[in-house]
Amino acid sequence: MENYINYLTKYNPSIEKIFSRNLKETLNALYEICKTKEEKVYLVGGIVRDIFLGKNSSDIDMVIEGNSQEFAKHILPKFPVSKHRYTERFLTYNIFMKSGTNIDIASFRSEVYEYPGALPTVKYSSIENDYTRRDFTINSMYVSFDKRAELYDPLNALEDIKNKTIRIIHDKSFEDDPTRIFRAIKFAGRYDFSFDDNTERCLIEAMEKNFLSSISNLRLKNEFYMLVSEKKLSNILSLFRKYKIFDYLNIPNPSDEDIKEISEIVKKSSFRKIKEKHKISRGNFIIMYLIRNLSYNEKIEVLKTFEIGKKNLETILFEEGEAENIILDLRKSFKPSEIYLSLKHISPFKILSLLYILKKNRKKIKSYIYEISDKSGIISGSDLIDIGLEQNSFFKNYLEKCFCIQLDMENPDKKKILSKLKKELKLN
Ligand code: ATP
Repeated sequence: MENYINYLTKYNPSIEKIFSRNLKETLNALYEICKTKEEKVYLVGGIVRDIFLGKNSSDIDMVIEGNSQEFAKHILPKFPVSKHRYTERFLTYNIFMKSGTNIDIASFRSEVYEYPGALPTVKYSSIENDYTRRDFTINSMYVSFDKRAELYDPLNALEDIKNKTIRIIHDKSFEDDPTRIFRAIKFAGRYDFSFDDNTERCLIEAMEKNFLSSISNLRLKNEFYMLVSEKKLSNILSLFRKYKIFDYLNIPNPSDEDIKEISEIVKKSSFRKIKEKHKISRGNFIIMYLIRNLSYNEKIEVLKTFEIGKKNLETILFEEGEAENIILDLRKSFKPSEIYLSLKHISPFKILSLLYILKKNRKKIKSYIYEISDKSGIISGSDLIDIGLEQNSFFKNYLEKCFCIQLDMENPDKKKILSKLKKELKLN
């Protein structure tokens, strides 16, 4: 099998080492398919940018001369795919692979935006027009998906990469699609790039003219959450502050110390462990951190933009006085069982908030997280039946009682726990 990656080494000799094995295998397998096709196929966008930046890419964007749906038919049988869909409106075919790499196939196209923030009207076109619909110069480079791996760089993006510059393609770019405001910040933050003067001027103007108001809350939320998932969170938050994204979202502007602190919190292994285990949204946590000093009603107002459902809201937002009560309760709790009883009904999100945002009773909360919450009870229902307890409405309480006894006991075992329970219940 030919190795397409070899053909890319002329642009970056280290690409073999930089691209993940999965990405390389997928590219090589796609190349084999492209070889059998008449129409021209190009890699475009993020993956081409990343070849030159020397970064691994997670997605493969391809553009083809023909119909993306037809083309996808040749790809689908060759890969383990978890989901795929054709979007006629955009002439694009998205393939989500089980490996985590996604392939987007688009037909060469041009776009017309009828009004700011509208979804564009799309027409079949050629490579000479395709780039005009893209967001920034660095995302408008093409490499032919053939032996020659020819670079088509119509806007001299290589120069912008060299100068670490994000540059829009035309002055109405942010107006046409205000999500590009977020994309501009994403790339600037991620790669430590700056905006060229005109792009910065257009971005500031776009914010002053409130172009973001033409996108739905759902899109706004998605963009925000996507950006705060970036590795260089402190860059992203500083840029949000600089370009008044927080003002737009009614989120108080964080200080430099706040930015430093929240960026460190989300990197902590303890934070990541609980986040993963309980599927806590990093975006929600960052928002709650940023709005921590607002009143309950102000928080509710901010959260409206993020359209968090009622049930979810209850798990992340303390009711008025709720946090204070937990803190008081914890202050009076010393034994592990008391700490357990104070926190067992509290959502993992709120526990993380107590630990890292309110920063109260940290020692006790940590002991709950690391020593208590993972424990399982030694005593089972059948053990209780064996000692003569009836399965009545108190049964659950007895089990809980046993668990509390276990938590407070040194080297607990079944016999010792049951004997203590019997003593407390005055059973003989
Ligand atoms: P990432 O590395 O975050 O995935 P990406 O550039 O690969 O970034 P995608 O959203 O996958 O981002 O987009 C692929 C390509 O499609 C971009 O590189 C760009 O050329 C084009 N594109 C994506 N979104 C827009 C947009 N809002 N306006 C114009 N072009 C866009």
